[in-house]
Amino acid sequence: MDNFTFHNPTRIHFGRGQIAAIANEIPADAKVLLLAGGGSIKANGVYDQVIAALGERTVHEHWGVEANPDFDTLLPAVELCRQESVDWVLAVGGGSVLDGAKLICAAVPYAGDPWQILLDNGASVKSALPLGTVLTLPATGSEANGASVISRRAIKEKLHFISPSVYPVFSVLDPATTLSLPERQVANGIGDAFCHVIEQYLTYPAHAAVQDQFAESVLRVLIAEGPKTLADRNDYDARANLVWAATCALNGLVGAGVPQDWATHTIGHEITALHGIDHARTLAIVLPSLLSAQKDTKRAKLLQYAERVWGITTGTEDERVAGAIAQTREFYESIGIPTRFAAYEVAAEVAPQVAQRLAARGLTGIGEHGDLTPERIEAILRDAA
Ligand code: NAP
Ligand code: FE
Repeated sequence: MDNFTFHNPTRIHFGRGQIAAIANEIPADAKVLLLAGGGSIKANGVYDQVIAALGERTVHEHWGVEANPDFDTLLPAVELCRQESVDWVLAVGGGSVLDGAKLICAAVPYAGDPWQILLDNGASVKSALPLGTVLTLPATGSEANGASVISRRAIKEKLHFISPSVYPVFSVLDPATTLSLPERQVANGIGDAFCHVIEQYLTYPAHAAVQDQFAESVLRVLIAEGPKTLADRNDYDARANLVWAATCALNGLVGAGVPQDWATHTIGHEITALHGIDHARTLAIVLPSLLSAQKDTKRAKLLQYAERVWGITTGTEDERVAGAIAQTREFYESIGIPTRFAAYEVAAEVAPQVAQRLAARGLTGIGEHGDLTPERIEAILRDAA
């Protein structure tokens, strides 16, 4: 196991009615920015609960944060915060609203052009406004991590930054607020969380028994509870397990002291930047092909994954590896997420385009061994056609 420092400062309020906890989390004299998306929180009653919990506090609202939050949508909110001396941000929505809020929190006290935060991966972030969140879509883990992914459609970019300054101070996870999600978004959430675990688990052995077995548990829960909650949205317990699994997938525990891959996400972000395909769907396209391409360097963990997650114990090593990759593809397909470019009507040119864009950013060797070159990335994407 590698050395690590683990510190997750986000207080989680989990369960029915927990939106009320906001009243004790945000100081009574705070000036709050409430950040939201396109309106789902008005339709499902979450907005009313949040406003009730905020009580007499001064609240400024900024709506319209879109899926894959856009830099240009967020900048006016940064200005609003500065003008009104806002000193707390409350993000209410899915991962896009939460990620957008993190950029706003970092940008308000930031001296230069906030795009620089994305260009240097958050290295230049020294402070941020305090952030609270009410998560309405289990998927990203953004509610309990210091990461944010921001798109800039004007220049066809999608970049991320990571900073300890933007961990939420608190997050409310009330599974009941997610019951209004369309099936497609629930499936996306399952698929995203699944891939988060895979990116931190399916690398090479690091003798990290706790992290490995925790990762395998989260994967097994997603495989068991995901289809259940898709089949019956009123099964509160299945939904609650999905919500907590998605948080545990990317709150730092699974990834502490182990090698990490993240090539699937890195490639997937380029596909979203170019074609606007949902984040989780890009992962479903890339992951099975990437695992096939890396089956030699990932062999030991693929065999472990085959046995402990999919129960594959018979056959030759090659057959078990192939079986685990096939099960992974089948899992995404079974929750309604196609795993081939063909289903998204994307032209074959995407393969060289993505490879060139990554190379242009200096990403000439990604993955846990840094061995995914532009040529190999192109081959993976052609294989995913
Ligand atoms: P999202 O983009 O936040 O939301 C997708 C859609 O779901 C929106 O149209 C939203 O509508 C709707 N929605 C949200 N909650 C709802 C509810 N309870 N009922 C009905 N509709 C609801 O989806 P996401 O998958 O959570 O976030 C994706 C983004 O996160 C991507 O940009 C991805 O790259 C990023 N990401 C971040 C991390 C991280 O660690 N920070 C990790 C992985 C991915 P409204 O706009 O109307 O609310
Ligand atoms: Fe993700």
